[in-house]
Amino acid sequence: MEPKLPEAWILSIGNELLIGRTVNTNASWLGKRLTVMGFNVRRIVVVPDDIEEIADEIRRALGRARLIVTTGGLGPTHDDVTLAAVGRALGREMEVNDEALRMLKDHYDRRGLPLTEHRIKMAVMPQGAKILKNSAGSAPGCLLREGETVIVSLPGVPREMEAMFEEVVPLIRQMAPEREAIECASRIRGVPESTLAPLMERLAKERTSSYLKSHPLGFEQGVPVLDVKVLSFGADRQEAEREAREILTQVLKEVETRGGQHFGIHCS
Ligand code: ATP
Repeated sequence: MEPKLPEAWILSIGNELLIGRTVNTNASWLGKRLTVMGFNVRRIVVVPDDIEEIADEIRRALGRARLIVTTGGLGPTHDDVTLAAVGRALGREMEVNDEALRMLKDHYDRRGLPLTEHRIKMAVMPQGAKILKNSAGSAPGCLLREGETVIVSLPGVPREMEAMFEEVVPLIRQMAPEREAIECASRIRGVPESTLAPLMERLAKERTSSYLKSHPLGFEQGVPVLDVKVLSFGADRQEAEREAREILTQVLKEVETRGGQHFGIHCS
């Protein structure tokens, strides 16, 4: 990937991710979105519901990342400690945020429920937090700036996380270069991955603004089958697609030379 792209870290918070009860779909969803937006995603870290461990990971990320996205741990229960950990890592006081409290009051009023201590807890934010509305659930998220770095804390429930991320997009888009991304792929039969490896290595070195990778799918009637995928970027979609197609065309020529079969180039 291009080294000059702003670095992003994703911190997935929750014991249920570590014990294998929940599949970390949030991280893969965010990884894809952030990459396409022009961030260089360098870490996805899964952290338990432990205030000091989360704070440690945030401090580590602050040394490198321009964007840190956390998911999970914003809810009303005792193990939802993400924002307290962010506050600790940044050395900020925690306070009841008026805007967040208003949102929660509205949310529970509409359901005829009172604002209890545990519900008010969800409005306790580090000082300086910009509140992110939770249109699909209860717990608000927040965005904080620390020097050059932006920290975004989103809920764990995927539907809520995705909706809140859309609200953040305009705010973080300015941090990454304006560009379009496209992914193109080709299915190949009859040429082992290892045969294509030297060409793939050369292309990866030459085409540093693209990310290319072969994905072996196994064997069909004793013949190796694999997908080659290329993620390319450009000033516009056409430029990105041209780059991806040029790369895959070289791969497919090699496949033909080696007596393999392919099924053309498909872009999405
Ligand atoms: P809420 O206030 O809505 O409870 P929260 O921020 O407290 O949100 P968590 O309690 O951490 O969220 O997680 C709620 C649920 O969301 C989990 O039980 C799990 O099903 C799902 N979830 C959490 N993290 C992830 C993740 N990384 N990928 C997919 N699903 C997740």
